[in-house]
Amino acid sequence: MTIGWMGLGLMGERMVKRVATLGEDVVAYNRSPKEILDLPSNVRLTSDPREVAQGCRLTFLMLADAAAVEAALFESGAIDGMEPGTVVVNMSTVGVDESIRFAERVERRGLGYVESPVLGTTKPAEEGKLVALVAGTEANVEAALPYLRTMAHVIHRLGNVGNGSAMKLMVNYLLAMSMLSLGEALAFADRAGFDVRTALDVLATSSVWPAVYGGKRGMIESGDFTPQFPVKHLAKDMRLFTEASERWRARTPIAGLARDLLRRASAGPFADLDMAALCAWFRDDGQGQASDR
Ligand code: NAP
Repeated sequence: MTIGWMGLGLMGERMVKRVATLGEDVVAYNRSPKEILDLPSNVRLTSDPREVAQGCRLTFLMLADAAAVEAALFESGAIDGMEPGTVVVNMSTVGVDESIRFAERVERRGLGYVESPVLGTTKPAEEGKLVALVAGTEANVEAALPYLRTMAHVIHRLGNVGNGSAMKLMVNYLLAMSMLSLGEALAFADRAGFDVRTALDVLATSSVWPAVYGGKRGMIESGDFTPQFPVKHLAKDMRLFTEASERWRARTPIAGLARDLLRRASAGPFADLDMAALCAWFRDDGQGQASDR
């Protein structure tokens, strides 16, 4: 069987290598031409999304957002070339309603849809240690599972499509809160006359130091914000979280402020930097360069 893949960004290029370890042929699409170091010999790259449809009974998407899924899967005509019974596994982080609507449109064509957004960033993606938040019908999920297991060491099966997206957005809400709070705390410490290292030393010995701060500490200290998880995607996720919150009337008043801050932060040069750059953004009052120094 040939496996289809769409999206070779920061995550996709690492995840497709994991899928390739099963030895099957993989056709992998990316919108812009892509050179991938150590590309397994069973992975063929293409810039034509319709090629991913031909002969692939299982196609994975790891694209930026719903607009990218719309463009790559639907507008390109790729979906029209898929044989009945083909299962589309959307691993991109999209909104709850967006995912439900994708499922309806895919299923109307006699195809299957699984959503499986993931927790974890580039290193876990490289190591096959992501956490998959899987939702869809039993049969479709079963078809995707062997491949998901190459990418994820924990698989949560969450029921109906929409549930995986909801859980993903819940986690990223807390991630956004953590990073924004750290940025604000460091801006405070800066004005109090402390350098970043001292402030982080103190914070790291406190009970309010989550794992993600440990992971981002090196970036914050060095000012090297080469992206693992870019600010623009965190901004998108907070927007999607607030949209779902509003629809469900969830009591999440702090989320609106976080969404607005992230919208501002992602409107300029910080958009493509790692989310750790939010610490620099706060201290520079959003005006300065994306450097920690
Ligand atoms: P990324 O590096 O920004 O890659 C985005 C991918 O989407 C690229 O392949 C890009 O193609 C493609 N794309 C964007 N717009 C498109 C369009 N209109 N038509 C076709 N392709 C389009 O993103 P990523 O970090 O890999 O993340 C992918 C998804 O996973 C996002 O939804 C993100 O929120 C989520 N996620 C990311 C992380 C992380 O740590 N990075 C972790 C968990 C989940 P080009 O190369 O041509 O731009």
